[in-house]
Amino acid sequence: MGENIKSLVKAAHYVYSSGLVSGSAGNISMRLSKDKIAITPKGVPLSLVTEENVAIVGMDGRRLLGGEPSSELYLHLEIYKIREDIKSIAHTHSPYATAFAFSDKRLKRVEGLNGMNDIDEVAYYKPGSLELARECAKKIKKGKILILKNHGVLCCGSNLREAVQLAEFIEESAKIQFLAHILNKS
Ligand SMILES: [Zn+2]
Repeated sequence: MGENIKSLVKAAHYVYSSGLVSGSAGNISMRLSKDKIAITPKGVPLSLVTEENVAIVGMDGRRLLGGEPSSELYLHLEIYKIREDIKSIAHTHSPYATAFAFSDKRLKRVEGLNGMNDIDEVAYYKPGSLELARECAKKIKKGKILILKNHGVLCCGSNLREAVQLAEFIEESAKIQFLAHILNKS
């Protein structure tokens, strides 16, 4: 696939500059091998991720190299543990999709990309908690996107590019549905 730490750094910068995250919110990870992943560091804006501060972590959560892993480390690990097909995960609080997460409106199924057929919702659990991680792992089943109620969005891909594309796509879809809703009312 040719994806490595450098690709993860690039993806982090791209996600930040695309406005899908702000401040130090959001985190991205990728599988490096059967027993380790790379994940963006805790408390560092995605725009400032470097090859040096990316955290390399074992499947048991142990840090092997680099910076301190994102506070949502377990959210990523629990999903990798149950879905072998998933090689990368992007978690954002992108504004339109997150607005849906905070509302009682459900994001509709959208045509366009593979994996958009199943958009499940996960009830609110404290960000960074093992409960949130376990609930997401339980809900993800065959789909690739989860709306985390009162929190944000989680997108999984069979590679880094797909995870990032889904994060962009879900945000665009949410924006369109939001605008269409306003138009229908006028
Ligand atoms: Zn979050």
